[in-house]
This record gives sequence, structure tokens and C-alpha cells, in this order.
Amino acid sequence: MPVYSDEAVVLRTARLGEADRIVTLLTLAHGKIRAVAKGVRKPRSRFGARLEPFMRCRLQLFQGRSALQIVTQAVEISAYARPIAQDYGLFVAASLMCETADKLIADDSGAQPAHYRLLAGALAALASRRLAPWQAAQSYELRALAQEGWRPRLATCVVCGKGEPERDLAFFSVPLGGMVCSIDRAGVGAQCRPLSHEGAVALRSLLMGDWAHCPVRENHQVTAIVEEWTQYYLERPLHSAGLLG
Ligand SMILES: [Zn+2]
Repeated sequence: MPVYSDEAVVLRTARLGEADRIVTLLTLAHGKIRAVAKGVRKPRSRFGARLEPFMRCRLQLFQGRSALQIVTQAVEISAYARPIAQDYGLFVAASLMCETADKLIADDSGAQPAHYRLLAGALAALASRRLAPWQAAQSYELRALAQEGWRPRLATCVVCGKGEPERDLAFFSVPLGGMVCSIDRAGVGAQCRPLSHEGAVALRSLLMGDWAHCPVRENHQVTAIVEEWTQYYLERPLHSAGLLG
């Protein structure tokens, strides 16, 4: 299939020579790919602004002999980039999401339709302001990592396995992967962050995409946990286990 079509979200772009650009794309059917868009930086490019970060397009691609594919056509599906570029808060959230997708998905990982839909949905919610930037970004980060197998344990203590009301789940440990009760907290010490009941509700609703129960105000305990969770698990060797098999 030297020429094929697919839909994609633009994750990242880099200059190539005088007028071209390399675009990193998360596609619906072919996973993450890198492709050259020729002449895209010329004033009258046939691609217009369709190959900017955060855009969602239907593309025609040519698979040549090189590792890089070539974009031959781009039709806009959703111009998330325009509202996002006009608002710094939206831009920061969208950049974080696309950077996470780029780091999380290997070039040769094959089709990632669930991740594609998650990212496209999060960018749509952000661009339409259906969700606050922190809600869209934190929910995306938690769900993207959960899809890769890093799902925080929220209903029971990661040390003793007991839940409420038997135990008071008032702490969260990123390295241990979830909630810690106030009794076991002493044993794991510095690895724990306090998490209020409201914070636990927020974390659960962000992970589930349960907007009916998600607070409208950002919870700073939750923000710190999601930030640490994302950094901690993005630094793990994500695909090394597969290479060993
Ligand atoms: Zn416990």
C-alpha cells in the first residue's frame, strides 16, 4: 500500500530544510507515524494551516522507501488548533496532552485506536471549552496512562488491601500506585501525599471521565498527584518489556 489514507491528530512539527516540515502524527489506524509535508512553510502551501499541532485531519500518505512517509493531501476534520492557539491556558493543556501521547506511544506500536479517540476527544472538549483546561488535561493524562496499564488503585489501600469505612484512605503514593490508609502511611512515609476526601472524589471522576461528580474547581492535591504520576510513569521504560519477549 504505497498510498493510503487515515485520519490523524498532529502531535508535533519540526522544520526540515527551507520549506518542508516533519510532522509527528497519531493516526487512527496506523498508530504514531512521522511524515514529511513538502512545501508546507511556503506562503501558498496547499496544506494551509492544516498541519499545525493539535489539528485533526484526514490525510493521504505515501509510504516510500524511507522511514519517513510523505503527506500528499490533508483535509481538515476539526480545527482544534485555532481556539487553542488563542488562549494560553488551552495551549498549555493541549501541549501537555500531545507531548504525553508522543512520549507514551512508540513509533512502531501499531494501531492505537483507543488512544487516538481519547486524545481527539480531549482536544475537542478543550477547544470547545466543554471542560476546563485542567480537567481535560488531568483526565487525559490519567486515562492515557491507565490504558497503558498504569491505573491508580483508588478504592482500597495499596499496602493492606482494605477500603473504607474499615480504613481511612487519606493518602496517595505515586510509586506504590494508589491510595494508602492512615495506618500504613507510617510505614511508607515520605512516598505519600495527603489526599482529602474531595480530592479522592476528583481523582476518581477524572480517571473515569465522570463529569457529573468532578468538582468545578481545581484541587491542588490532585494536580500535584497527576503531575507526579505522569512524570513517574513516563520515565519508566515503557516498551522494554515487549522487546525482551
Ligand atoms: Zn492500609
